[in-house]
This record gives sequence, C-alpha cells and structure tokens, in this order.
Amino acid sequence: MFDSLTDRLSGIFTQLRGKGRLSEADIDATAREIRLALLEADVALPVVKEFIRNIKERARGAEVSQALNPAQQVIKIVHEELVATLGGEERRLNFAKQPPTVIMLAGLQGAGKTTLAGKLGRWLRQQNHTPLLVAADLQRPNAVNQLQIVGERAGVEVYAPEPGNGVGDPVQVAKDSIEHAKRVQRDVVIIDTAGRLGIDAEMMAQAAAIRDVTDPDEVLFVIDAMIGQDAVATAEAFRDGVGISGVVLSKLDGDARGGAALSVRQVTGQPIMFASTGEKLEDFDVFYPERMASRILG
Ligand code: GDP
Repeated sequence: MFDSLTDRLSGIFTQLRGKGRLSEADIDATAREIRLALLEADVALPVVKEFIRNIKERARGAEVSQALNPAQQVIKIVHEELVATLGGEERRLNFAKQPPTVIMLAGLQGAGKTTLAGKLGRWLRQQNHTPLLVAADLQRPNAVNQLQIVGERAGVEVYAPEPGNGVGDPVQVAKDSIEHAKRVQRDVVIIDTAGRLGIDAEMMAQAAAIRDVTDPDEVLFVIDAMIGQDAVATAEAFRDGVGISGVVLSKLDGDARGGAALSVRQVTGQPIMFASTGEKLEDFDVFYPERMASRILG
C-alpha cells in the first residue's frame, strides 16, 4: 500500500539532501513534484491544492534551523501536513449516555460493511462491551447468512429476521433490534445496512429511514481504500444522503495508491476512525493519522 507514493516522496527528499538554505525556486520545484506525486496517488484535487499551499507557505516561513537541514525540514513539514490531512488526533467512538449505543454502518456493496460488523463486534467484546449485530441488509439473499457467520466467528449475537418471514423490512428489523438489545441488555447495537454497487436513490432512502428510526450515535461510512478518487463522489453522496459521523477505511492491505485515504477526511469533513487491513476479524484497528503518515513517508 502507498508504495509508489512513498517511493516518489523519498526521491523528492533525496534531491534536497546536501542543499544549504532552500531558495524560492527550490521550494517551488519541490512543491511541484509533491503535487504530481499526490495526483498520481489519486488524491482529490482540492485536497492536493490545500496540501501544496500549506507546504509552500510553511517551507518559505521555516526558520533556518541548527538541528534540521533543509531536506529534514521539508520532510518534517510534509509529515505534519500528512497527519493533518489524515485527521490529526485519532477520534474515539461516541458512546450513548444511556445504552444501547447505536452504530450504523453505511457504504456501497462490497465496501466491507459486513466484515467490519464482525471486526467491530469482536473489538468491542474485547473491551467488555456486549455488542449485538443487526442484519438490516436484506437486499442480498446471502447477506443475513454472511453476517451470521461473521457473528459466530466474533462470538457476537446476531439479530436477524426469522427465516421464512419473507424478505422482511430492514427498517422494521433495525427498529426492533433496539428493543431487543434493551431486553437482553446489549450495550452496543451495530447495524449492517444494504449497499448497492453504485449510488442509488432507493438505497440512500432506506439508509436514511434506518437512521431515522434508530437515531444512531455513530453513522460509520465504510469505504474501500482501493477505489481511489471515486471515493470522493461516494463519500459526498453518503454525507449528503445519510449524514455520517465517521469513516472506516477498508482493504488497506491491498495496493491502494492512497487517494481515498488522503482525500476522504477533507471531503466528508468527518474523521477516519478505524482501519481494516484484511479479511480476518483481527485485521482491524483504530486509525492513527500519525502512524499512517509515518508509513507513507517510509
Ligand atoms: P459489504 O458488501 O459492504 O458488506 O462487504 P463485505 O464485508 O461482504 O466485504 C466484501 C469483500 O471484501 C469480502 O470478500 C471480504 O472478505 C472482503 N474484505 C472486507 N474487508 C477487507 C479488508 O480489510 N481487506 C481485504 N483484503 N478484504 C476485505
């Protein structure tokens, strides 16, 4: 992941080694190359523009430092700007004062929502929570089954419509699941919702209806990091159609160029909260902007 971006940036920094004070021309040339590297990594244009503006401004204003040579100074500035672009501090889950906390998962089909439900369930259980997974994706015939398998692996109960009750109404299932959670004393309800292959008005309306009846404490938008720049349009659609409070980046183990990861926070205005890095339930962690920036810089 991010390999080509890492290589490009390290090449740019190498060229600065051995230079004395950076001239205006050096700063411009470096900024231009960083801009190209980000664009090649499929980072959204407005994000690239702001990034470059900040880098230039800070490089020009940088004090001549005894401790850092110009190359190190630029690396430090780029690192800090990467951290800021990725969200700065990590953001923790918002828990309801009065349980159950409701976490709704939204995103396109194949983004990794069902897998995430299991990962999040397992992770919460390890922290002594008592999660409940809810099968409100009734669009795909196999989705309920898939969630049940994931729930079993995670050791987390799954609330699903009774088999034989027809297709069922996902909004009703979601609503009933909250009552069920209260009855059986589950403190976090994780609702898996239906996605489509592309943005779809009906899917968005259903997600909004589920949001309305469950009043979630978090709406986590799950996005496949591999889709790069397309992430922007999808993220905007979910932000406007459902309203999201946080982002989960999935498939960070693939060879994503970095575009989605580096664009999504600024585009949605919401923090990246978790990272999914594989198909196994343990391939999951809180998202740390600082660590990700360090990884990008190699
Ligand atoms: P959903 O349609 O949004 O519920 O997506 P799924 O959870 O069914 O995931 C779609 C596919 O991506 C499945 O084959 C998952 O095993 C796979 N998947 C999910 N998360 C990850 C991840 O972080 N890394 C990798 N490599 N595969 C993942």
